[in-house]
Order: sequence, then structure tokens, then C-alpha cells
Amino acid sequence: MPRQCDVLIIGCGIAGATAALSLAEKGLDVVVLSAGEASNSAWAQGGIVYSGEGDSPELLAQDILDAGAGLCNPAAVEQLVCLGPPLVQEFLIKKNGVAFDRNEDGKLSLTEEAAHSVPRILHHKDKTGAAIMSALLKNLRVELRTHSTAIDLITLSHHSKRPVDLYAPSTCVGAYVFNANTGAVDIVFAKETILATGGLSEVFLHSTNPRQARGDGIAMAYRAGARIMNLEYVQFHPTTLHAPPERSFLLSEALRGEGARLLDINLKPFMQKYHEKKDLAPRDIVSRAIFGEMVESGADHAWLDITAKSREWIGNRFPAIFRHCLERGFDLSAKPVPVVPAAHYSCGGVAVDLTGKTTILRLRAIGEVACSGLHGANRLASTSLLEGLVWAKTASDDILATWKKRKDSFPPVEEWQMSHEVVDRALIQQDWMTIQQTMWNYVGLVRDLNRLRRAQKMLRELQCEIDQFYERAALTEELIGLRNGVLTALLITQGALRNKTSRGCHFRIS
Ligand SMILES: Cc1cc2nc3c(=O)[nH]c(=O)nc-3n(C[C@H](O)[C@H](O)[C@H](O)COP(=O)(O)OP(=O)(O)OC[C@H]3O[C@@H](n4cnc5c(N)ncnc54)[C@H](O)[C@@H]3O)c2cc1C
Repeated sequence: MPRQCDVLIIGCGIAGATAALSLAEKGLDVVVLSAGEASNSAWAQGGIVYSGEGDSPELLAQDILDAGAGLCNPAAVEQLVCLGPPLVQEFLIKKNGVAFDRNEDGKLSLTEEAAHSVPRILHHKDKTGAAIMSALLKNLRVELRTHSTAIDLITLSHHSKRPVDLYAPSTCVGAYVFNANTGAVDIVFAKETILATGGLSEVFLHSTNPRQARGDGIAMAYRAGARIMNLEYVQFHPTTLHAPPERSFLLSEALRGEGARLLDINLKPFMQKYHEKKDLAPRDIVSRAIFGEMVESGADHAWLDITAKSREWIGNRFPAIFRHCLERGFDLSAKPVPVVPAAHYSCGGVAVDLTGKTTILRLRAIGEVACSGLHGANRLASTSLLEGLVWAKTASDDILATWKKRKDSFPPVEEWQMSHEVVDRALIQQDWMTIQQTMWNYVGLVRDLNRLRRAQKMLRELQCEIDQFYERAALTEELIGLRNGVLTALLITQGALRNKTSRGCHFRIS
């Protein structure tokens, strides 16, 4: 039997959890899906934007607009700067008891990050995201389905058994959901569906994100016919620990905010050559500067040096980073550590308005999967947790405002057709390597026409192959992700090909 609920939320990071809390509090029947244990939100290190000494909404807006390189949507910026800081106070601190760090005098401790005019970032050591998520999840009283991966959105025109629904306006009525524990595919009908599936950086070889950040929400929305925008603007984080074959591990911008310096392979500072703000220049500039230094010297990394601080200070301010590096033989207090840039954040996504509405009726998108235009061509550090919070709230408020008048019904829909061919995991792994290598080498920090054309050709061919074996194969979480990953990679590549103008984090040399 299909499950029928009021609101289906796909994803349980800061955006999904905030929306779930806000809607359930008003008595709505909410189902939340989470594909895996990890989320970008729980991995966030540095912090969340609040309000600093001498700060104002106008000053924060100006910093966001400067980082966005002329492409920010002014209405989205205004919404974030007006609603964001009060929501941090009301919702995160007062209502959910998030324990941000405080100074000895009991006042909230604020740190500075790149391209911010004043110190205005709240943090919980270097595990801000984990502190926020554990507070939100503790208070969440809804049906949370873990290890449950949405496969496709159910729309009237694609899945209804009533032939004339083909002519209905594009409308979402829920999703097909794969249960990794049972192998079954369930239908979840919902009067409103909210995509909160996070980012896409895992389609690149070097990424700071967890494995599920492969653009599932973008791929599902695209297949359902939603407008997708700005996908070429992928932000690369300048500093991840380079310790192959380990996964890239983020070394927070807050390290540079606290005085860490970038050094070239010969241990010489170089950021003064690239920007007046030196090590605290916007992320795309720092990432390309490191990349440029690496190409020029032939080195496979640069260095990050925070040895000016004591071991005790670093261990206290950045305990998780300090421990992670130490366990891999790098003592941050003793020597500079090797760093490389890695894909980090998607400024583009499913096009939405100020309440998360997409171009499909009854489908909203919030958080990193969405594109409200807030970040324009580049994101200001530590604004994305805040964006998830704000859009979750405005989307929930908008749903609640019209709830009583709604008379939704669910159509009869096609059952999911199961296939049974056993998946060859070697194929999946090899295809992922191809996607990630192609994206890193041809659609990465520096893009040119020939590389982008080559990437598009390769990804199209691969997508045909994957679609063919997807149709015959028994479903697995990995296979769902691979199908979404190749489509997302192709959409990023096509965006990068169409857009010949270098701006923000999209950089074309031809
Ligand atoms: C290492 C790291 C450090 C960061 N540091 C900061 C920082 O200091 N400050 C800041 O503002 N931002 C930071 N960011 C960015 C920020 O964390 C993210 O942009 C933000 O958390 C995104 O939140 P979200 O709710 O949109 O998505 P996420 O938190 O990524 O949650 C997505 C959820 O969707 C689920 N999901 C995905 N696909 C499916 C599917 N098909 N079916 C069901 N569930 C699915 C996932 O399992 C997960 O639960 C950082 C990111 C990383 C990776």
C-alpha cells in the first residue's frame, strides 16, 4: 500500500530537518527520507553567518553581492540578510539549543572568514554542522526513513494511470523510494514534496562532500521537467589535506581566518600576487592561485602553515582537524601541511523562488540542491547553512499559510517495475571513476572549449550505457546514484559549455 502523507521531505540535512521540524510542529504529517548517514550539513566545520560588531544587513548583503560577482539575485540576498541572523537566534539557539562557542564573558564567539567585512561567523569548535544537526535531530518527531533513497519524483503527466492527466500542469505528487534494507520500492504520495538532497561535488575526483552528494535531487527534478540553472558555478574549496589515497579532507577557511598562510612548494607565501586580501581573498581566486602555482612548479600540492599558533591553541580551536591531520602524520603546530583544492559547493541547482517553489507544482527545493540566485556566480563562506535554514523556514511558512484551503487528491499510478539482473559492481566503480576523472580534468577549475566538448561526448556515451544496464538491473543505492551522477555531470558540463563568460567560480580560458 502506498503511504500517503502531507509533506514528503527528501533529505535530512539542515534544510530538510528544519522544514520537518517547522511543519510537524503545526501538526502536518511529515515523512523524511535520508539516503545515508552523512550529510554536508553534519560535515560543516567553519560556522554559520550571524551578526558581528558594527555589522548590518546592508554590509552582509554587500559582501554576498561582491562574492557573487554580479550574478546574485537581489531579492534572495535581501531575504537571507533580513531573516537569517534573527532565525539563528530564535530557531537554532533559543528553540533548539545549539551550543555555539562563547567567549569567557559569555558572549557568542565570532570568527572571520574570507571576504567577510567583519567577524560574524558563529561556530562550535570546528564541528559546527555536527552540533547543529545533533540538536535538530534530537528534537525531530516525524517518520524518518533512513537508508531510503528517492529514485524518481512521481508526476501526474509521467506516472498517472488516468490518460488525460498527460495534459495537467506539471505536478508532483510524491516519489518512488528505494528501501536499501529490504530492496523494495515504495510509493510515497505527498500533497507537497520538498527536495533537500544537498550538493553534487562527488561527481568530481577531489571533493569535500560525502558520497551521497552526487546531485540526486537535481537529476530527479530534471527528469521531471523542472528548470535547472547555474550549474556551471561549482565552488572549489582551496584547502583540503592532500594525503592520497585518502579522501580529501577539508581544512576549514577559518584556519586562514585565524592567520594560517598559503605557501608554494618552496615554502614561499604567494597570495599577495593574486589579491589585495591575500590569503583571505574569495575562494575561487585562492583555488585558482593554488592551482596556478601547482601547474607552474609541477608540484601536486601547496602548503598551509599555521605554525605561528601554539599546539594547545590549535588543538582547542580546531580539535577535529588537528586530530585528523595528526592521525595521518601531519602535526599542524610543527610543520606546514600539504593542500590541494577540491569541489565543494554547488551555487546552481533546481530553480526556485523565495519560498522554494520550483517550476513544477507542489514541488519545492531548499538548501544546496536549490538555486534561488542567492550565491550568484560564487558563494560567500558560511552562507549555505544559513540559506538552508532560511529557505526551509520560508517554504514551511508558505505551505502552512495555505494549508487549510487545500483539497489535494492522489491519482492511481504505475507500480514500480522491478528488474532482476545482478549488478556488476566493477562496472559501477569504473563508471564512477570515469565520471570523476572526466569532471576533474575537463570541467574543473580551469575550463576550455575542447576539454568541455570532449567531456560532453564522453559523458553522453557513458549515460547511454548506464541507462541501458539500469533498465535491466536489480536496483541498488549505488546504481541509483550512478544514474543520477552521470546526468548531473552532463548538466554541469552543458552549463559550462553554454556559458562562455568567466565569472565567479566558472573560469573559461577558451
Ligand atoms: C566538509 C564541508 C564543510 C562545510 N563547511 C561549511 C561551513 O562551515 N558553513 C557553511 O555555511 N557551509 C558549509 N558547508 C556547506 C554546507 O554544509 C552545505 O551547503 C549545507 O549543509 C547543505 O545542506 P542541505 O540540507 O541542503 O544538504 P545536506 O546537508 O547535504 O543533506 C542532504 C541530505 O539528502 C540526502 N539525500 C541525498 N540524495 C538523496 C536521495 N536520492 N534520497 C533520499 N535522501 C537523499 C542525504 O543523505 C542527506 O541526508 C560545508 C560543506 C562541507 C562538505
